[in-house]
Amino acid sequence: MENNHQTQINPSSQLTKPSRFKRICVFCGSSPGNKPSYQLAAIQLANQLVERNIDLVYGGGSVGLMGLVSQAVFNGGRHVLGVIPKTLMPREITGESVGEVRAVSGMHQRKAEMARQADAFIALPGGYGTLEELLEVITWAQLGIHDKPVGLLNVDGYYNSLLSFIDKAVDEGFVTPSARHIIISAPTAHELMSKLEDYVPKHNGVAPKLSWEMEQQLGYTTTKLEIAR
Ligand code: AMP
Repeated sequence: MENNHQTQINPSSQLTKPSRFKRICVFCGSSPGNKPSYQLAAIQLANQLVERNIDLVYGGGSVGLMGLVSQAVFNGGRHVLGVIPKTLMPREITGESVGEVRAVSGMHQRKAEMARQADAFIALPGGYGTLEELLEVITWAQLGIHDKPVGLLNVDGYYNSLLSFIDKAVDEGFVTPSARHIIISAPTAHELMSKLEDYVPKHNGVAPKLSWEMEQQLGYTTTKLEIAR
């Protein structure tokens, strides 16, 4: 699918209430998915960011849903920051990026940098990479490393089985009910953004905030305090 069509923003739908978010990190498939609804949801999420004057940070490149979101946010006049490990930078791997591109040394550094730059996280449909990024920011929230909202855009029930699995993990005693509330899900971008705007963290971090350093635990160059910012 071409990444430069269907990306125009409807100028009649401007919001007046300012968003609490300056920049949101979007995780999503490097593939477009088999259903047009996934691609449409990517555009609708981008439109929501533009309408609310929110900038984007993402994994860089122009492939799949990542390309659709970034192109539409860029076309809407918002700042787009792509964070790419140097090894993924060749155009044949990730395609051409729009906006600002920040090269980092590896995948771990990329995730830490995307997290540091964002005020909230949203996952669109995606595969292993998306799941890994999503679960990591949920885990960081569970530990108390940050309390930024984490949203799941459950397009056409794509994530129903993941949500059922997490409910099972609560039933079986592996996820606490308060940690279950870290994930905010909704079927549409508009509904998800409204929920994220209203989100109040309820969970208690497992690790004492002031003694827990990302650097020591994970070997990142970015500290916990920078990510929590
Ligand atoms: P996946 O869901 O497996 O397609 O992986 C998508 C996620 O992993 C994105 O949010 C990116 O951060 C990262 N990723 C995976 N493949 C690529 C790629 N070819 N170019 C850039 N980032 C990628």
